[in-house]
Amino acid sequence: MTVTVPNHGLVLVLNCGSSSIKYQLIDTRVDEPLAVGLIERVTDHATGVAEVIATLEGNPQISLTELAVVGHRVVQGGDEFTAPTIIDNDVERSIVKLAALAPLHNPGHAAGIRAAREAFPTIPHVAIFDTAFHQTMPPEAYTYALDRRVADEHAIRRYGFHGTSHGFVSRATADAMGADVRQINQIVLHLGNGASACAVAGGRSVDTSMGLTPLEGLVMGTRTGDIDPAVVAHLGRAAGMTIDEIDDLLNKHSGMLGLTGYNDMRDVHAAAEAGDHAAKLGLQIYYRRIRGYVGRYYAILGHLDSITFTAGVGENDDLVRLNSLAGLEELGIVIDAERNAGRKKAPTLISSDDSRVQVWVIPTNEEREIAVQSLAAIA
Ligand code: AMP
Repeated sequence: MTVTVPNHGLVLVLNCGSSSIKYQLIDTRVDEPLAVGLIERVTDHATGVAEVIATLEGNPQISLTELAVVGHRVVQGGDEFTAPTIIDNDVERSIVKLAALAPLHNPGHAAGIRAAREAFPTIPHVAIFDTAFHQTMPPEAYTYALDRRVADEHAIRRYGFHGTSHGFVSRATADAMGADVRQINQIVLHLGNGASACAVAGGRSVDTSMGLTPLEGLVMGTRTGDIDPAVVAHLGRAAGMTIDEIDDLLNKHSGMLGLTGYNDMRDVHAAAEAGDHAAKLGLQIYYRRIRGYVGRYYAILGHLDSITFTAGVGENDDLVRLNSLAGLEELGIVIDAERNAGRKKAPTLISSDDSRVQVWVIPTNEEREIAVQSLAAIA
């Protein structure tokens, strides 16, 4: 008797937040998702998941009997989870425990996983962790120069995020180059509302700009990225702010929003073009931070074959791509203005033919990658 392994079938991809559920129903054999939706103002996740199911069942083109697996996006997997993981009660408990490291994300994920496992008790559930791809970083990349005892006691280290995207995009870049991912060194710039850079050597993450949480590194829509940690103590002492107020300031009222009044890059460019000085300065800060990380990771890698832009800003904003890498000709990085112009919906080479480092735009698709990895995990 032969056992058939499901390497296709429908995948329900869930991204459960504290008060929202984003979902996609994906058949990996077709390009577009069969259904995409967002349930907001979720007060209890069982009701939210029931609403997702009711919406899908109300669609005559969809048959949930073909559902093969539910893939759950989980932001924080700590140093425990290094790969997609089939969820059992132990895994569910670990995700709950990791909420100490990701209080804004993991509680919502855990509640969503519980509700979805109850709604689909006979179907496998797989957790896909944003941190997993970065578990290959060496200790000198992930260790902060903090008192060792304090760091160990509280699991303080760089974890890195956007790993599903960095992994997918680095492999897709190698494919587009006709190269073996194991043979090349890359920098991936995931520039969306959240943003991070990743140094990838031979297909493995060796450094990344986000840290214990997704706050560190590049300037983002509403997050500071790198900042002197003494600012936190200073605001506590000098401004009398509480820890929660400071956390809120750094995560939700800073970055491009704090600098310019706009968190969407389209609005920042429009303001800059209209002569707004804060918007112009904000863009210079944004570009400079990216350029700094490119130089840093170039030096760490020693040799660089490719740089890839991805996510909402990286795929759509030709000015960000052009200005962030301007003046790097001496490093072998030369953008071709014509190739770079416009929004990119497909893998596109944007460097000139005499650029030693190839520069690409590769559209990311985290939900699809979660679907592919979920199917692979149960195969
Ligand atoms: P993401 O988090 O990957 O969905 O990216 C969302 C961000 O992409 C938005 O906040 C915008 O700043 C940016 N974005 C989307 N479309 C464009 C565009 N056409 N030009 C410039 N930036 C864009």
